[in-house]
Amino acid sequence: MKYYLLFGPPGAGKGTQAKLLVEKYNLRHVSTGDLLRREIAAKSELGLAAKALIDAGNLVDDSIVEKMIENEIDCNPAVPGFLFDGFPRTVAQAEALDALLAKRGESLSKVISIIISDSLVFERIAHRAAIEGRKDDSNPEIIENRIKTYHQKTELLVSYYKERGKYFEIDGEGTIEDIFKKISDLI
Ligand code: AMP
Repeated sequence: MKYYLLFGPPGAGKGTQAKLLVEKYNLRHVSTGDLLRREIAAKSELGLAAKALIDAGNLVDDSIVEKMIENEIDCNPAVPGFLFDGFPRTVAQAEALDALLAKRGESLSKVISIIISDSLVFERIAHRAAIEGRKDDSNPEIIENRIKTYHQKTELLVSYYKERGKYFEIDGEGTIEDIFKKISDLI
């Protein structure tokens, strides 16, 4: 089983690339953001608890997303691999993922990091707001908070994965096709 991780700030293009990659490699796309938005739409208890945090651009509890990931892996035993998008976002989540895979005698295949500048993050998210209508995309203060959260909590994972020899970087400022080709070469 292959386990790939698409890494990068909000607006880096992870979702766009994930859609193309899962089609090409028949991987199971697991976006914790999408799973959480589904819970919100269904008005589940979990969704109601997560909504205020997401709308403010804060992270939800590690234990919530860790359970979602475990459930996805458990429920899809026959897929050739997984593509995680937006998970892990904290060192605790990365450790939980390592432990979860180790329990199965497996490990992460590669972390593919899409690098873009903060100013392009802003531009991309503003553009997406007009298309997808996400509440957390439509307010500059919330976008700022998400970028800050990325730098404070998620960027620590760069050294975490470099130390483990899993980390590969891609320049995220080219065309969708260019970036897709570079990621495909890594996979
Ligand atoms: P995304 O669609 O990946 O941008 O995620 C949207 C929002 O969902 C984030 O701003 C967080 O509030 C929440 N979220 C998604 N994935 C995670 C995660 N792995 N850990 C904590 N919160 C998450």
